Amino acid sequence: MAFLLRFARQWVAGEAMDDALRVAKDANARGIDALVNHLGEHYRDKALVEATTREYLQVLASMSSGGIRGTVSLKPTQFGALIDKAYALSQMIPVLDAAKADGRVLWLDMENAHTTDDTLWIGERLLERYDRVGICVQANLKRTADDIDRLIQETARIRLVKGAYKETADIAYGTRTEIDRAYLKHLETLFRRARDFAVGSHDGRMIRRALELAREHPTPFEFAMLQGVRDPLKREMVEQGHRVSEYIPYGPNWLPYFSRRLRERPRNIMTMIRSFVED
Ligand SMILES: Cc1cc2nc3c(=O)[nH]c(=O)nc-3n(C[C@H](O)[C@H](O)[C@H](O)COP(=O)(O)OP(=O)(O)OC[C@H]3O[C@@H](n4cnc5c(N)ncnc54)[C@H](O)[C@@H]3O)c2cc1C
Repeated sequence: MAFLLRFARQWVAGEAMDDALRVAKDANARGIDALVNHLGEHYRDKALVEATTREYLQVLASMSSGGIRGTVSLKPTQFGALIDKAYALSQMIPVLDAAKADGRVLWLDMENAHTTDDTLWIGERLLERYDRVGICVQANLKRTADDIDRLIQETARIRLVKGAYKETADIAYGTRTEIDRAYLKHLETLFRRARDFAVGSHDGRMIRRALELAREHPTPFEFAMLQGVRDPLKREMVEQGHRVSEYIPYGPNWLPYFSRRLRERPRNIMTMIRSFVED
């Protein structure tokens, strides 16, 4: 595991909160806002959920005392959404209050499609308490155009991503071409109608189109990218005056996140094998 973690550290700050805070400070020094995520998902044990709430409160307190720009992004199933969505909401409210006290946006990650409705429900309840709540939506899901419509009406912030979870053909697009087409269509909707959204992608085509749309429809938005991916592009966007945020995951439960990153870019598996062989 130590071997794997060494490779995973390209995408994961480390196992401890201090690792995430260090990477977040480094991102700030490069003109980038931090989007810190404590890794963990599918919790069914309330003790684990409640420890997650305490962890995020500590992250936000440390960001405040350390003068770190950015915020946190929460996974609903880490807050107990699989136990009960109202319970998950109750666990997120203290985190929302802490984000609100500092004027930070609170983001929700979007997990697999079984959780989409509950995530939207939780996001909407949080929005009733604070208007700076953002929710991730996934271009691979066929329902996303409707979800974006609804979130725009509710003045939620939206982070558009392609989607990291494998879903079935009845609800999701399966090919890269279809997903990219949906992403580009949603980008257009966001630039025309949304406010303060995030373009979550490393794909040069998506980013070029966002830049074109930004010229046609000047509106506040940010680029959001993952830690360890396309750093030169992040720098270029900052230099061009765009807002950029970096998703910084940390914690001992890094394996599922790491596996998703490897799966979407198989050449990383070869790089990893090579790095072990060369050791
Ligand atoms: C800030 C952020 C938050 C996210 N949150 C969620 C979430 O809540 N839920 C969810 O399901 N998914 C989330 N994701 C993941 C997302 O759904 C995708 O799985 C992931 O971003 C890969 O898609 P992509 O748009 O970057 O392009 P891809 O289709 O994976 O890649 C397209 C192209 O991008 C370029 N590229 C990609 N990676 C690299 C690299 N390492 N080096 C160089 N070029 C590269 C290459 O040109 C590649 O061909 C998030 C992503 C980001 C950036």
